Amino acid sequence: MAARAASALRSAVAVARDAPVRRVTPPRDRTRKRYWWTRLSDEELLDVRFCDLGLTLERSPLAKRVARLYAELDERGIAFRPHCWLAVEWFSPDGTPGIAIPFFLAHPRLRKLERLMMQEVEGGNDRWFMRILRHEAGHAIDTAYRLRRTRAFRETFGPAGLPYPDSYRPRPGSRRYVQHLGSWYAQSHPTEDFAETFAVWLKPNSRWRSQYENWPALAKLEYVDATMRDIAGRAPPVRARNHVESLATDTRTLREHYAEMLARYGTPRKRAEDEWLERVFTREPRVARGGRRRRASTFLRRLRPRLQAAIATRVGCSEYLVHQVMRTAIRRADELKLYVRGDARAARRHAEWLLTKLTRDLERSTGRTLTL
Ligand SMILES: [Zn+2]
Repeated sequence: MAARAASALRSAVAVARDAPVRRVTPPRDRTRKRYWWTRLSDEELLDVRFCDLGLTLERSPLAKRVARLYAELDERGIAFRPHCWLAVEWFSPDGTPGIAIPFFLAHPRLRKLERLMMQEVEGGNDRWFMRILRHEAGHAIDTAYRLRRTRAFRETFGPAGLPYPDSYRPRPGSRRYVQHLGSWYAQSHPTEDFAETFAVWLKPNSRWRSQYENWPALAKLEYVDATMRDIAGRAPPVRARNHVESLATDTRTLREHYAEMLARYGTPRKRAEDEWLERVFTREPRVARGGRRRRASTFLRRLRPRLQAAIATRVGCSEYLVHQVMRTAIRRADELKLYVRGDARAARRHAEWLLTKLTRDLERSTGRTLTL
């Protein structure tokens, strides 16, 4: 039922682009601690303007994670601290060495709406958030110290002036690039390659030297290591502190924003993986009296050690790729609340077939363009 309601809401928003803008405004009396919009329905919340949300990064639980990033930089002796603010997407602007963090991560109610509208909450858990934050910190430090203009940068990563591709064809398993955000994002552009490499380097207890031993990507990590040592303690030449496309000055309603997002990324279709998962597993397990329902995610997790190497060999790809597929499948199976269908042997056979297929698809696919 929830799924149908969500898609109806999305369609309504997607076609509402030219409709007159309605607005739900904050009450005069705003002395209460809680944000005034947390109890609004989805429909009402969509008619609130960003600037009326009253959201700030400092008041949100995200402030702690930004502090964590600063501690990680401090640990590496880097004096630079990228400033952070809330906007509608993740990005680090050209010319401003800071990081925009999407608003929906600042409050659970907004996260819920984001999932409903976009089917995914980018950076929605602690680890994922820190991975993206380190990546964006890479862009910010590149801007702050104008690293991309140096010859060493160009020789290591390529010319930063290269236009961004609309979409790119990643080569899974390529050892010339580090693997961090997934979708082989480092391969999309020299500045992305740098940001990804920086993120791998910055991660606390990063074992990059052994992890990337014998990889050509190691030279990039060595570059980052040497460059960061070089700039340690030095104040950056670029120090702009402005908040580009800040939420506080954004007068659009959430509905206008989501209409734009849905137009840009297309009304999110049901993902192909989900459809396959729902065929192999089931939402409504038939269980014999006294029997137990078995969760598909637990089932897959148990299969993982056995299947990972086998599938990698069969497809002829890295185990890392299979690992990514399995991780996604387990997460989606959990989110879709799927259970094992029929007897265990058949389920195992079907799961193995599906995971092989998904790995093959991913290996052949063109990566989705991300706006990071
Ligand atoms: Zn990026």
